[in-house]
Amino acid sequence: MATNSWKPPCPKCGGLEQKTSAPPVCASCGYRWPCEFAEAAKGSGDFSIGSKVWPGTSKVIEEMGELQQVLGKLIAVAGDTKHWDGDLRKKLIEEIGDLSAALDFFKTQNCTIGELLQIADRANKKLALFWEWHKDPTKP
Ligand SMILES: [Mg+2]
Repeated sequence: MATNSWKPPCPKCGGLEQKTSAPPVCASCGYRWPCEFAEAAKGSGDFSIGSKVWPGTSKVIEEMGELQQVLGKLIAVAGDTKHWDGDLRKKLIEEIGDLSAALDFFKTQNCTIGELLQIADRANKKLALFWEWHKDPTKP
């Protein structure tokens, strides 16, 4: 039975021979991988708090996920706030606060004053619409 002995060429010199070791070491130039690849594959930190590229994006996503998790648990127990994971009302309040802070941070870091005003205007209009729907719920 044939075994798959293919190995990628050395990313530094293209050499095809490797010393038997972990991580592999190029027999020609001594280059070690994949550890160096793993270093290179690390994120730059863009999109996180403190970065220069859309700062706070990752935090908004993270907090949305955490709120979704709590809401999923709330649905799973038919709206009861007692859950095997603890008090869902307490977790709900925490995650709404976390998401609200993440959105506030994101908005103030990534939007102009004009855009912030547009966001506030749209949010007010949406909220008014939601109240209308809530007062008179209709079926599709
Ligand atoms: Mg959170």
